Amino acid sequence: MSDDEDYAPVDFWTALLRGWCGRCPRCGKGALFGRFLKMQSHCPACNQALEPYRADDAPAYFTIFAVGHIVVPLVLIVERYGQQPPLWFHALLWLPLSVLLALYLLPHIKGAVIALLWAHRIGAPKPSAGGLDGSS
Ligand SMILES: [Zn+2]
Repeated sequence: MSDDEDYAPVDFWTALLRGWCGRCPRCGKGALFGRFLKMQSHCPACNQALEPYRADDAPAYFTIFAVGHIVVPLVLIVERYGQQPPLWFHALLWLPLSVLLALYLLPHIKGAVIALLWAHRIGAPKPSAGGLDGSS
């Protein structure tokens, strides 16, 4: 498969939406993940190599950022307009909500980050057989 075939013309937002939905950014048919967050090495539908697109810590960072910006305002609203409920109420409400939100958002955000990397052709270099710089 040539380089141009790897990057079939797909609109950036289409690729991002496909990634958000856990689908291959190239074809939109194959699943990005085999299990919860375990990426497939190749798209099962179009055989697009997915291994070079490593999201690393970015999805976790963006998920924490999003969950914080959703939950903290809700905590402040409940504290302000909810007649200052006791701390156990906050713990009982916000801790499970934060965990569930993070578990929901993390695979979506990871898929979107992988699609973004794919759309911009930001793949990790292939490991070389030689030294770290590939010269030997
Ligand atoms: Zn595909």
